[in-house]
Amino acid sequence: MPRSLVTGGAGFLGSHLCDSLLASGHEVICLDNLFTGHRDNVKHLQGRKDFTFVEADVVEPFDFEVDFIWNLACPAAPGHYRYKPVSTTMTSVMGTLNCLELGRRTGARVFHASTSEVYGDPEVHPQPESYRGCVNPIGPRACYDEGKRCAETLCFDHRRMHGTSIKVVRIFNTYGPRMHPYDGRVVSNFIRQAVCGEPLTIYGDGMQTRSFCYVSDLIDGFRRLMDSREDFTGPMNLGNPGEFTMIELARLVERHAGRHVTLEHRALPKDDPTRRQPDIALAKKELGWQPTVPLAEGIVRTIEWFRSINLADYPPPSPYVMQPEAQKAG
Ligand code: NAD
Ligand code: UDP
Repeated sequence: MPRSLVTGGAGFLGSHLCDSLLASGHEVICLDNLFTGHRDNVKHLQGRKDFTFVEADVVEPFDFEVDFIWNLACPAAPGHYRYKPVSTTMTSVMGTLNCLELGRRTGARVFHASTSEVYGDPEVHPQPESYRGCVNPIGPRACYDEGKRCAETLCFDHRRMHGTSIKVVRIFNTYGPRMHPYDGRVVSNFIRQAVCGEPLTIYGDGMQTRSFCYVSDLIDGFRRLMDSREDFTGPMNLGNPGEFTMIELARLVERHAGRHVTLEHRALPKDDPTRRQPDIALAKKELGWQPTVPLAEGIVRTIEWFRSINLADYPPPSPYVMQPEAQKAG
């Protein structure tokens, strides 16, 4: 039975990855400090003999006998990482180094969850893996962007120095059931607001774009990348190339939530990227992968999940997402 360690396994993506691994016969150790994750995301797995939950911080070294290491632990939503910027950088850097050291000791393959944020506010569109990015190293997003850039550096230096087996994925905006309803990301905000009958908050003029990938497509890409030939390391973009403005997204959520909503404009956060769309030519060529779930279908599934949960069970992990007034346009 292959053994997998999933750091950040109680989070949105991590919990879906745990499900996928268990379904294909892996034994799974899920390590999480529950900062932005939620116990309920893995509640259905508790009690299984092939699943272990370990509450721990990836900044501290850890040791397990495993074949695969999936390095997902890191706050991922701007409101969360701006709330704990220093520990976000430390989580990216030390968490990745600890995974790589474990990979070196055990011979396990290390999968690292990087991000489209390494491209910053891109001048090249869509973004191929060869683009080196446009990141403000001292801005409010830098703790995340630079932390992830440094984590990629560690992966490649570890491989050059020690031959560590690595797979680096750059994830573009992904959404679906089990997103934290108060993570402050645009899909979770719009859906929560629509379900609660509140105005949808549009930052800036709402003409900035993002490309949204449904979680099942992304996890399929993860699994294919981990199983790819040893000498293929990435970095590889995974995301859905369909590109939408925030206004278009708001109207789509309104249509599928089945109720009229008003839009309320707020100030655009500093360094908010203007456009983002993955170039997925490499994923198509190397993995034969491309997303299959259209945005409308994924939004419907996500709305259903938001309607099925009790929002009171999800206290906001950071006060930032609860202070929209502070961001109001002048
Ligand atoms: P998430 O916040 O739901 O999951 C992150 C998990 O990591 C949480 O369960 C959290 O409690 C845990 N965690 C945070 N710091 C930790 C620490 N120091 N020690 C142990 N656990 C810790 O976010 P997600 O969307 O599932 O993101 C998972 C990974 O994918 C992150 O590394 C993120 O940067 C990356 N990513 C996600 C997206 C996306 O759109 N969802 C896009 C780009 C990159
Ligand atoms: N955004 C918005 N309203 C919200 C939350 C976010 O208009 O309630 C915007 C945000 O300014 C950004 C886009 O939506 O331009 C995506 O934000 P998110 O935090 O989901 O992801 P990221 O900026 O990390 O891509």
